[in-house]
Amino acid sequence: MKPSAARSSSSARCPRCGNTFDCGKHAQPFECWCRQMPSLPADRLDPAGRCLCPECLAAEIARAGQAPPGV
Ligand SMILES: [Zn+2]
Repeated sequence: MKPSAARSSSSARCPRCGNTFDCGKHAQPFECWCRQMPSLPADRLDPAGRCLCPECLAAEIARAGQAPPGV
């Protein structure tokens, strides 16, 4: 893993599938596509605070809405 400069400061890598995607988490002002998404339950969030890519986030939201809590 080289600490090479990222092409874009808004670039992030999905911890699930490894895809790169744009994340506005660190943008000022905060402006990100994920604001349009429903919030995930806290227990579904990545402890490291990393963002998921749109596909994985959507999948996780769908899963969270279907699966009973605590599983
Ligand atoms: Zn992903």
